[in-house]
Amino acid sequence: MDKASELKKIRETMEQDKNLPLIKKPKDIIPGDGNPNAKIVFVGEAGGYHESIQRKPFVGNAGMLLNQLLHSIELERRGVYITNMVKTRPPENRDPLPEELEAFGKYLDQEIEIINPKIIVTLGRFSMAKFLPGVKISIVHGKVFDVNWKSRQIKVVPMYHPAAALRNGDVMFQIKEDFSKLPELLKELI
Ligand code: URA
Repeated sequence: MDKASELKKIRETMEQDKNLPLIKKPKDIIPGDGNPNAKIVFVGEAGGYHESIQRKPFVGNAGMLLNQLLHSIELERRGVYITNMVKTRPPENRDPLPEELEAFGKYLDQEIEIINPKIIVTLGRFSMAKFLPGVKISIVHGKVFDVNWKSRQIKVVPMYHPAAALRNGDVMFQIKEDFSKLPELLKELI
């Protein structure tokens, strides 16, 4: 089976998974989106209103900023893969609960196994904590970590969440600077 078919199968399995929290009907699932052969995967937190309507991650205001940041380093959205820790919209966009992160975690793991990216960019603290437990975003953002994840070597680059950048000019400055380092890292790895 090719990678696109394998990812489609994950989506279908999630849609039928009665044990997933927050899911009342199959269409509540917001699957990952992008290139199954991407070298770089972006992992956010959970969907919001626009994501739940379009059933795609990062299509609201934070998504527009993410698109601009990708554009600024000459990457296209369709060239990368974008997904979330929690593949639905929590009520009133609240933070995901530990049991929600846990329940959706196995599907994120499967996505990563299939795509097998060289780089994972975590957007915000929840995805950062999955790969880099115990670190502080204000200290580590933009740095490159070699992570041994399920016997694979992956470069993990923690970044601020784009929604935080929209609220705070200093964070906007930092996220732009952190993105500007990605092309060099990609070049080294390809
Ligand atoms: N914020 C996220 O973390 N993910 C989305 O898909 C949208 C906003």
